[in-house]
Amino acid sequence: MKRLALKITGLVQGVGFRPFVYRLAQELKLTGWVNNSSTGVLIEIEGNLPDLELFLQRLKAEQPPQAQIQSQELNWLPVTGYTEFTIRPSVGGAKTAITLPDLSTCSECLREIFDPSNRRYRYPFTNCTNCGPRYSIIEGLPYDRSLTTMKTFSMCAECAQEYHNPNNRRFHAQPNACPICGPQLALWDREGKVISTGEEALQQGVKGIKEGLIVAIKGLGGFQLVVDARNPRAVERLRQRKQRPSKPFGVMYPDLESLQLDCLVTELEAALLRSPQSPLVLLTRQTNSRLAANVAPNNPDLGVMLPYTPLHHLLLKDLGFPIVATSGNLANEPICTCEVEAKQRLGKITDLFLVHNRPITRPLDDSVVRVINQHPVVLRRARGYAPLPIPLKLPKNGVKPQVLALGAHLKNTIAISIGEQVFLSQHIGDLDNQASFQAFEQVIKTLKQLYEFTPDLVACDLHPDYMSTQYALQLGKPVVRVQHHQAHVLAAIASEQLWGESCLGVAWDGTGYGLDGTIWGGEFFLVKGNSLSCERIASFLPFPLPGGDTAIKQPRRSLLGILHRLNLDDHLEDYFSTIELVNLKKMLTQKLNSPLTSSVGRLFDGVALLLGLPGVVSFEGEAAMGLEFLARKVKQAQPYPFTIDDYLIDWQPMLREILTDVANLISPNLIAARFHQTLAEIIVKIAQKVGAKRVILTGGCFQNKYLSECTISKLQQRGFIPHYPSLVPPNDGCIALGQAIAALNQS
Ligand code: ZN
Ligand code: ZN
Ligand code: FE
Repeated sequence: MKRLALKITGLVQGVGFRPFVYRLAQELKLTGWVNNSSTGVLIEIEGNLPDLELFLQRLKAEQPPQAQIQSQELNWLPVTGYTEFTIRPSVGGAKTAITLPDLSTCSECLREIFDPSNRRYRYPFTNCTNCGPRYSIIEGLPYDRSLTTMKTFSMCAECAQEYHNPNNRRFHAQPNACPICGPQLALWDREGKVISTGEEALQQGVKGIKEGLIVAIKGLGGFQLVVDARNPRAVERLRQRKQRPSKPFGVMYPDLESLQLDCLVTELEAALLRSPQSPLVLLTRQTNSRLAANVAPNNPDLGVMLPYTPLHHLLLKDLGFPIVATSGNLANEPICTCEVEAKQRLGKITDLFLVHNRPITRPLDDSVVRVINQHPVVLRRARGYAPLPIPLKLPKNGVKPQVLALGAHLKNTIAISIGEQVFLSQHIGDLDNQASFQAFEQVIKTLKQLYEFTPDLVACDLHPDYMSTQYALQLGKPVVRVQHHQAHVLAAIASEQLWGESCLGVAWDGTGYGLDGTIWGGEFFLVKGNSLSCERIASFLPFPLPGGDTAIKQPRRSLLGILHRLNLDDHLEDYFSTIELVNLKKMLTQKLNSPLTSSVGRLFDGVALLLGLPGVVSFEGEAAMGLEFLARKVKQAQPYPFTIDDYLIDWQPMLREILTDVANLISPNLIAARFHQTLAEIIVKIAQKVGAKRVILTGGCFQNKYLSECTISKLQQRGFIPHYPSLVPPNDGCIALGQAIAALNQS
């Protein structure tokens, strides 16, 4: 007889791990106990040696589908003589346990809500140990009902019985609920007056959507605005009220079959759509799509998802057609999470509210994933993925400070480090309005609360004007300022676990404050694996950007700067009024408010404009997306000429030839394809010059599937190993992670 003490960390809470351990111990007739602690799961188990060994084997082999064991500590102890196996109450202590993300409805729960004989028939808040809300309802650790927003609902006798029966799939399912005891639906008018409740609310909500109304639905991690995706008038009203003129909307389909009528879906993409994370997946649209054209104007792609909560399943089943499902907010504000706030912020946008009384602890947008080079890439990391930690293996050992990293300005996320892991928050948004800044503060507060975290060190961007930088400086803690593109590269190293490897890091995006005070965005770094040092070794020839950051939404300003550099800026009358042009040119010649930039993103903008795309856009990257879509029609194309002089990439020969091609009415598709091929070729040339085998591709530019795929294939053909962040976004959503690593590496 032996006693074994086990400490298991990883994804082991909220996934049915304790009941699994309990059942396994029962089956093997072993005694002892299991419980949740704030650091993981603790087990003590007694029996004869062969049975204990079998227990260990099966613990690993048969763990619940959502569980992931990160580490397992084993201690052999003298026997104490347990007589049974029990699940003990949770214990506190230092908070390092991994919080589980929200999981989409499992097949068993789905069957129940559509089974008229089941007591949860049509109940929109059905869940079990394998599915349902987690991070969106958790207030503290360990993960127990009393520390979730379900604490105010007391379970009825039947639910309690399920919850306490180790052989039930709802054994210790913290959000367990049923129509008798759990959360309820209500339908409100736009002033917040109750129209109906329960099943009637659902039916009337369905009726409203069918009639072309806008319905604000309180979902899992916040409100969604929903309209019939086939109805152009309804979509247009939503665009006007939400002040979102052209940015594509996400669409939710009733099922995979109906989705396949509108989009091409590969096996990998179908698996992503049906995964427990159930993200929005960017797919290629079929030409005969039934959707209203204004759902994603001028866009051959479509962001689509499948229902991921019982409420969505019930709605979509009754509707039988796809709906636009976009974040419940105005323009660039953060997603709305509570009813009171929704009345104020969404009352002018929506016609009806479909709400419920289960509070949401923190805002969580739908995650966005795209398959690039046959691998899923998370472009927006939120519901289903956050806040899973990213493990680090830093070159220097020793006790690490706790770092709070505040991220970038656009697509902001924040991160906290505990030991050698970083908890990266969900997508928060662009920090350029008051509401976003409040959400930023709330996410920091709730993440700190969850892990009882106090920072020793704060990391932020180099940019002096960022709200996040100013916030960092007034916290009264030591601050580490991290260069934006170095943060991009370090985040990619963590995402791909490239510790100890020397790599060439390519970081291309729209804007980032450079070490020399200019705007960077077309940078190459040499990363030394043994020290994580990140030295800038090559970049694009800079050009002036009249008006600085205003150019983000005005590609015409990028073009003006590019042509000014080429001494060719007298063909721009089509894009500016005479007076605008005179003023901007004066700025350029006098070098006033015209910072230099090496940004590839801005180069994309300028070239897009030459190919007939709009001079003013409504969101960053819109012009670059247009350029990608043009290029896609051409599979093979010759690169344009360029020169590399002492690691400075001169794009002027390319631009001159593009201007000639445009003048000769060469097809914009071909020009766009050649432009992409040139950029890929530049990366190969620099890689050859540097001689590093591994090449990291990161930064917002690599959200471009065409650019990424042609660069990856060119690199592979010439014997390099391309790496691409997949766990964290290549865009600025990864900056907080990179900042945390830089700060930890310095201390
Ligand atoms: Zn379930
Ligand atoms: Zn109940
Ligand atoms: Fe960036």
